[in-house]
Amino acid sequence: MVGDRGEVFVVSEHVADGPVGAALLRAPGGAREIVVCGSPDAVEQAATEAAAGGASRVVAVGGDGTVRAVVQGLLAVRTPRPELAIVPAGTANDAARGLGLDDPFAVLERLEAGALTPHPLDVNVCNGQCSVNVLSIGTPARVTQATPQESKALLGGLAYVLQGITQLAETQPFRARLHADGLQWEGSALALYIGNLPYAGGGFRVCPDADCTDGLLDLLIVPEMEPGELLALFGDTALLGDPRHHELVEHHRFTSLAVDLLDEAPINLDGEPFEGRRLSIDALSRPLRVLR
Ligand SMILES: [Mg+2]
Repeated sequence: MVGDRGEVFVVSEHVADGPVGAALLRAPGGAREIVVCGSPDAVEQAATEAAAGGASRVVAVGGDGTVRAVVQGLLAVRTPRPELAIVPAGTANDAARGLGLDDPFAVLERLEAGALTPHPLDVNVCNGQCSVNVLSIGTPARVTQATPQESKALLGGLAYVLQGITQLAETQPFRARLHADGLQWEGSALALYIGNLPYAGGGFRVCPDADCTDGLLDLLIVPEMEPGELLALFGDTALLGDPRHHELVEHHRFTSLAVDLLDEAPINLDGEPFEGRRLSIDALSRPLRVLR
């Protein structure tokens, strides 16, 4: 199929009425094709329809949840798939940050000017659901779920940091069993991160060297530890940007990973809650191209 529909903007309704939405409507040189979506399912469907209709490019306009849903929609069609572009306009924008895309207005300008170029993008798939950014289990997922909407609207990514600090003293470890090539791990963890890109929680570099083109998922294991050690780890991650400095933290890379949660623990997939006790996670090597 050849790009009948050209460039399609799939826009989260949270964004459509704001300044980024207004900037989208000021399209130089003709109207943009804009699909405003009120739910992740609608975003996914819009992306699939754009791809199936021959779009050459699908632009995700929103936060990490919007990017994830667009990618899920694009993966539903056979190759050749449209290029992915991202205009970061959510709360955390961790996926966009990891790709070097920060300011939505600058990204729009560069997109318009043809100043962004396509690069390969890996995607992790967990029980059939894709993760472009980071899947987190345990404390970080609990923090994300507990962060109030009003606080996110007011503070952006800082809301997660403040929420995290308030919850440092009440972390709930969970037992987990991990299997992958060369790894058998069983223990009590505070957090597991499975990353395709480096950032989670509104700008924390939880998987500092995660490379979204190497065909591997990054695994970071934060085992149960004393509150003082956890505070030090929080500081390392926030200030130095590398949790691997902490001697108890483990970092590995795999093409696939099985996670058995022996205790219930909250799961967060690119910013959205996710359910499951047995997770089967695979790295897909370069199924998409993303403009950056
Ligand atoms: Mg990788």
